[in-house]
Order: sequence, then C-alpha cells, then structure tokens
Amino acid sequence: MTTPVRYETVIGLEIHTQLATRSKIFCGCPNRFGAAPNTQICPVCAAFPGVLPVLNQAVLEMAIMTGLALHGEIRARNEFARKNYFYPDLPAGYQISQFELPIIERGHLMIELEGGVRRRIGITRAHMEVDAGKNLHEGIQGASWVDLNRTGTPLLEIVTEPDLRSAVETGVFLKKLRGLVRHLGVCDGNMEEGSFRCDANVSIRPLGEHRLGTRAEIKNLNSIRNVMRAIDYEVERQIDLVECGEAVVQETRLWDANQNHTRTMRGKEEAHDYRYFPEPDLPPVVIVPERIAAIRARMPELPDEKFARFQKDYGLSDYDAGVLTAEREMADYFEAAVQAAQPADPKGVANWVMVELLGRLNRAGQEIGDSPVVAASLGRLLRMMHDGVISGKIAKTVFGHMWEGGGDPARIVAEQGLVQVSDQGAIEAEVERVLVAHPDKIAQYRAGKSQLLGFFVGEIMKAMRGKANPGVVNGVLKEKLERS
Ligand code: ADP
Ligand code: MG
Ligand code: ZN
Repeated sequence: MTTPVRYETVIGLEIHTQLATRSKIFCGCPNRFGAAPNTQICPVCAAFPGVLPVLNQAVLEMAIMTGLALHGEIRARNEFARKNYFYPDLPAGYQISQFELPIIERGHLMIELEGGVRRRIGITRAHMEVDAGKNLHEGIQGASWVDLNRTGTPLLEIVTEPDLRSAVETGVFLKKLRGLVRHLGVCDGNMEEGSFRCDANVSIRPLGEHRLGTRAEIKNLNSIRNVMRAIDYEVERQIDLVECGEAVVQETRLWDANQNHTRTMRGKEEAHDYRYFPEPDLPPVVIVPERIAAIRARMPELPDEKFARFQKDYGLSDYDAGVLTAEREMADYFEAAVQAAQPADPKGVANWVMVELLGRLNRAGQEIGDSPVVAASLGRLLRMMHDGVISGKIAKTVFGHMWEGGGDPARIVAEQGLVQVSDQGAIEAEVERVLVAHPDKIAQYRAGKSQLLGFFVGEIMKAMRGKANPGVVNGVLKEKLERS
C-alpha cells in the first residue's frame, strides 16, 4: 500500500497597475476612465505614421516610488522595448514595454497571515508599459468596435516570485499590494474598472519537492474574490489530473466566474513570439541617485512603518494596528480622532472606530470616506466621555445622532439635555428612593447575593435616564448597602 501524496500549491502573480497620472504615458491626452469612446485620443494614441512618443515624467516618478515602497532596486539605466503583436485594439502593431532592462528588480512585500505569521513575498521585477485600447462587442450586431481611449494609459506591471502558497495567501498579498499603491497615490486599485488587474500562475508539486511543477496562467480575474476562487478551482483540477496519471500542460486559461471554472484559452504552442527589441523611438531612461533621494523624501509613510508606529505610540494590538493601517484614509481618520480626543486613551478611540463606526459603515456598504461622522467630532465625543461629561452609554446615543445627521457632539448633548449627572446629592437622593422601594432585595444582598448590585444600578440608571455617572452611583450604592 502506498501513502497518498500530499501537494503544495505554488502561485506567482503578474499585476498590471494603471498609474494615476493626469496625462497618458507618451502623449498629452488625459488619462481618464469612462469618457465616450475615442474622445481622449490623438495621433500618438492612434499610432499615425511619423508620430513620436515622449515619456511622461510623472510615470517614471510613480514607478520609482512604487519600487522604493517594494524595497526594490531601481535600475539606474533602464530601457523600453517593443513587444510586437497584432490585435485590433493595438493600432501600432506593437506595445512599448520593458523587457531585459526593467526599471525595478528584486523587491519584496511582507504579508501578515492569521496567527501572526509573517511571510516575505519576492517581487521579481516591475516594468513600465503602455496599455492597449479596447474592443467593444456588447450590443453591436455584425461588427466589433474599437475604443482607443485606454491606449496610452501608463501601466506598471509587477511580477512576483512563485512564493505564494495558497488562495488565502494570495488574497492577503493582493489586498496589501492594492492598499500600498492606493496609499502611495499611484493607482486607484479599482479591479472592476480594470485599473488593478491580476493574472495568476498556478502549479502544484508533491510536498517536499523543490522543482516547480508545470503552471497554468489564469486570466480574466476582476476581483480578489475571483482570484481566490480561480486558484482553488485550478489547484483541484491539477491535482485531479495528476492523480489520474495525466500531466498538467502549460497553457493560458480563462476564469469564468459564472460557470465557476477555468477553461483553456491558448496552449503553449500558440504562445506568441513577441520579437522584442529595444524601442528605437525612446532613449534609455537614466535615473541619477539625487532623483531617487528626492522621491524618497517626498514619499508618504509606508503602511508597514505606520503599522509599527501605531503599535508603539498608541499601544494597539497587531490586529487593531492592521485594520487601522490597511487604508491610508482609515489611518488618517483614526489619527485625527485621537488628536481631537486627547487626553483620552487612543486604544479606546481605536475601539470606537473599529466597532461603532466600521460596524455601521460595513452594514451601510460604505467606506471611511463616506462617514457622516467626521474624525474630529468623534474625537470630541470621546473626550467628553473621558472628561466625565457624558457616560459611555450616552456617548453611544449621541454617536447615533451624529451618524444620522452629523453635527457637533457638544451641541447634541446640550440640546438633548444628556449631560452626565455626577452630583453626589442628586444621586444619593435617587439611590435612597430605589433602596426604600426594595427592602427584600436589600436583605438578599446583605445575605450574600452580591450580584444584586447590578439590579440596583440598573434601577437608578433607569430613573435618571441613563445620565448618572456610573462611578458615583456605584460608590454611593455600595456605601449605603454596606453601612446600615
Ligand atoms: P511569462 O512572462 O511567460 O508569463 P515568467 O517566467 O516571467 O513567465 O513568470 C510569470 C509569473 O509566473 C511569475 O509571477 C512567476 O513567479 C510565475 N511562475 C513561474 N513559474 C511558475 C510555476 N511553476 N508555478 C507557479 N508560478 C510560476
Ligand atoms: Mg505571463
Ligand atoms: Zn494621445
């Protein structure tokens, strides 16, 4: 009898990030999504004879910034190359890309998995290239149309080492990378609109084997969820093949989200010969160290640095720091709230942001940028709570009002008469009334049923419409119960 073979999954990604420059990579046309077809084009976009490309310096700067954030080496002299192929959405008959001398090499991105496990995912390279146009088929009878608006959109293609080991890891990696490019402001990360596109190379091998198995490259993945589903499907397909004594063939496969499977798009024998050669219309790109230093100085704090700082300065857990630094807007919101809440404890602010605010935003399907409660207002609310002006319970009520209609917490508290009562005399009077009404419960309490304290507190809070200072109530109550 043989023991069943266990398999390891191996995944490498190629990610196309559309760079969020104002104009296109080689001409002055606007780099904008969603305009009417063929309204954002010029002779360069349409590849008229005799036109010449000029490199947009903003593309170069964004590429360098991304390379630095990925801890990559910036090649001081990199080169564009022509990648030749024929397709109707590519009027030039070639794509300007980088091949042997890409701008970025040998980087990495750390990812955090459940249970605090950290893994280093290698970045093989990242190169600048131009996007193609789009063929339109939908709703058109007997023809296909070509929209060249997207032609000339700058791309940074990021290629990873085959370092990922599961669909889950791949999802974590993609979220982190997308968060990073959005954080840097170099890409909006919108997978549905195609500004952050990912192809997944997937193979399996027996556990313990070091050589790579034959891979399939999966395309047409328009969400992180679909990337993960496609990998799960593909791994099962490959294991089934191998278990049946067949071999995985190297090919390109298309993910079909409706059918929930991948299918062959083209095999290795149909693979293109792109006949790459150095682009004769563009000089090599020379980057001096001073330029890199200047870009580094302009770079925002990186998510990993922010993560470490949030833990150190605010005393946050791994989990909290991770949630609050996943998106730049979220981190900015939290810090603004902490600032306004001072001297309240940042950990308490983190709790409110993550539980009360994110809870409501998630239920409403909204993002932090849509929050009707601005950070400074939340901070001021928490400061009032810290100062004892309102109780925690009232703070939640006020937060509810702020969620519904915005507004300043102090005004809401004043208008609705929600100020916390800490006055000893007023509270003593109420405690007295409640005790007189429940002689039986007092007896039980004194006989050892100490959990009745909660009952008394509840009655007093009810009588004072939740506005009594719970600390004072507890003190007065205990004193009276223990005394006579
Ligand atoms: P190509 O340009 O032909 O697609 P590359 O060799 O540049 O091929 O690899 C592209 C991607 O495929 C990289 O992300 C790489 O890590 C990944 N990759 C290469 N071999 C394998 C494999 N056997 N299994 C999984 N991923 C792989
Ligand atoms: Mg490829
Ligand atoms: Zn143009």
